[in-house]
Amino acid sequence: TSTRLPKPEWLKIKLTTGEPYKEIKQMMRTKTLHTVCEEARCPNIYECWANRTATFMILGDICTRACRFCAVKTGLPTELDLQEPERVAEAAEQMGLRHCVVTSVARDDLKDGGATIFAETIKAIRRKMPLCSVEVLIPDFLGNEESLKIVMDAKPDILNHNIETVERLSNRVRAKAKYRRSLELLSRAKAMNPDIPTKSSIMLGLGETREEILQAMDDLRAIDCNILTLGQYLQPSASHLNVVRYVHPDEFKQLKLDGLERGFSHVESAPFVRSSYHAHEQVKSAEAR
Ligand code: SF4
Ligand code: SF4
Repeated sequence: TSTRLPKPEWLKIKLTTGEPYKEIKQMMRTKTLHTVCEEARCPNIYECWANRTATFMILGDICTRACRFCAVKTGLPTELDLQEPERVAEAAEQMGLRHCVVTSVARDDLKDGGATIFAETIKAIRRKMPLCSVEVLIPDFLGNEESLKIVMDAKPDILNHNIETVERLSNRVRAKAKYRRSLELLSRAKAMNPDIPTKSSIMLGLGETREEILQAMDDLRAIDCNILTLGQYLQPSASHLNVVRYVHPDEFKQLKLDGLERGFSHVESAPFVRSSYHAHEQVKSAEAR
């Protein structure tokens, strides 16, 4: 119930949309697919889609969790759609994607948390588009190691799992997740296949201090996490967590340097950066390691 902070100048941008955007949007509807780009009303949608990058949200659009920053609907998910991997691959082909990000809601109702569908989606994209890199942004699978292995065995180009915020705020921001469990997932992924770069993301503006951000970076580097993205948290609606602070672009720049200094191979850090922003470039830098 606190008052909303006024938006600073650097966050006032006009959304540009054009013909390719409309075509792609139409295709998503005919294939009954969901993208984070659309669902989260991502400000980068035009740039990303023009750069042949998109983030598909598989396993439905209803989540078993209700993180307080997230715009996705909460409830009891619908049944599993076994044809979804094939349709995602077809859409990726039609869009001519060079980099495809696959993520999902948390499906705590499923025994494997949806890992098998993740693996099938990676394989389906590989079959149709061998040159398209595939990044998966996975939920924590409630710490289930077997589920993680199913995904890792399908060999994504990047294994992404977001810690979302610093340790102190984790409980408040994403009640059903755990900071340490997320770190453990990234650490296990690295142990299962050290050749697959790992990646994570932190939203800023939720009340974290600079020291806490640096600590989170150190925690990620201690488990050899390779890629980091930092962006401004924006409140999706009045019932979501308030923005505590709008972080200045210069501060984002400084944090990028802090991250690179700590040994991340790639850091994206700016107000509008989202987990999959400029992701195609991260594949290149990860390969060059
Ligand atoms: Fe989609 Fe991610 Fe790009 Fe946003 S940053 S438009 S969610 S691919
Ligand atoms: Fe949103 Fe993911 Fe949390 Fe579900 S688990 S509410 S999709 S952030």
